[in-house]
Amino acid sequence: SRFFTINDHPQGTPARELFELHEQALPELAEGEVRVRNSWLSVDPYMRGRMSGVTTYIEPFELNAPLEGAAIGEVIESRAAEFPVGTKVRHMGGWRDVAQLPGAELETLPAYEVPEQAYLGVLGMPGMTAWTGLNRIAEMQEGDNVLVSGAAGAVGSLAVQLAKAKGGTVVGIAGSQEKLDWLEAHGVKAVSYKGKNAPQLTEALNAACPEGFDVYYENVGGTCLEAALNTLKVGARIAVCGMIARYNDDAPSAGPGNLAMILIRRARMEGFIVFDHWAHYPQFLEEVGPQVENGRIDYEETVEEGLERTPDAFLKLFEGANRGKMLVRL
Ligand code: NDP
Repeated sequence: SRFFTINDHPQGTPARELFELHEQALPELAEGEVRVRNSWLSVDPYMRGRMSGVTTYIEPFELNAPLEGAAIGEVIESRAAEFPVGTKVRHMGGWRDVAQLPGAELETLPAYEVPEQAYLGVLGMPGMTAWTGLNRIAEMQEGDNVLVSGAAGAVGSLAVQLAKAKGGTVVGIAGSQEKLDWLEAHGVKAVSYKGKNAPQLTEALNAACPEGFDVYYENVGGTCLEAALNTLKVGARIAVCGMIARYNDDAPSAGPGNLAMILIRRARMEGFIVFDHWAHYPQFLEEVGPQVENGRIDYEETVEEGLERTPDAFLKLFEGANRGKMLVRL
């Protein structure tokens, strides 16, 4: 098996040299174990937090031990009766080409007619996150004005479509012209947080939605949060899903200077971690799966080729180089 490790905890943006590729022979399968040849690996922003050596809501990665992450592959050897050779599975033994795991740590793939890698993106953890944040945390209602940051990423691109489908007026914040075009093509008013808008994001959001927002779906933090707070309606709900603008900061930075807007607008701001809501994954699949299958929900993927490119794919998340889900194909 070939797998990646990190040799140190990153300071700031992780350097490419931090990631090392190793090769090791796998032991014989123990009773109950399976061996999986991975076909797709997921890289996700939360992995940056696991590299920092501190426990948050999840254990940190160990230095010089195989990194972990979601992956999809095919069982190539099995001593677990439920997972015969040839079964397609999802598991957390990513950042490697061949994984060996107890059968209890595998899931078979749901049966929608979608490419298998959709179960790492729109019908996997990021999709479930978008659905949870919008419906269960922000409690979006039909007709709401909804603002989404990181709107063209894995989570954001489903959040904007679900909000549209629920009858919302949707504004998306993203960082490149390609992403803005994708959003506009999906009926989302798109606002860049870069370039001339950077110093006046509040004005740009006001222009996009003069009435203000009932819901803010937060993926980014920093200046996006500050501008969003200025544009809330009374009684607005903020689902705090992520704050990627901060993940490479070495020390906490000052919060938004206008946090008092939460008070002035009588708003509610609530963070959530998708794993706490995983019992609702079947409900999410039932609602969203058929719409992905029949094309009513669209999704994008950005694919890097080959295990060697996994760190590059991961680092690109922080450059905004991905549209939709960032994946590695093996
Ligand atoms: P994305 O596919 O959205 O990829 C990351 C994107 O973030 C980039 O493409 C880039 O888009 C944007 N970005 C990167 N750096 C910055 C920055 N400094 N300032 C502003 N934007 C930046 O990733 P995901 O969809 O997987 O995740 C989106 C968010 O959701 C993350 O914050 C993640 O941590 C969070 N998340 C939370 C979960 C939970 O359980 N709470 C579960 C899953 C994800 P652009 O070009 O627009 O800048």
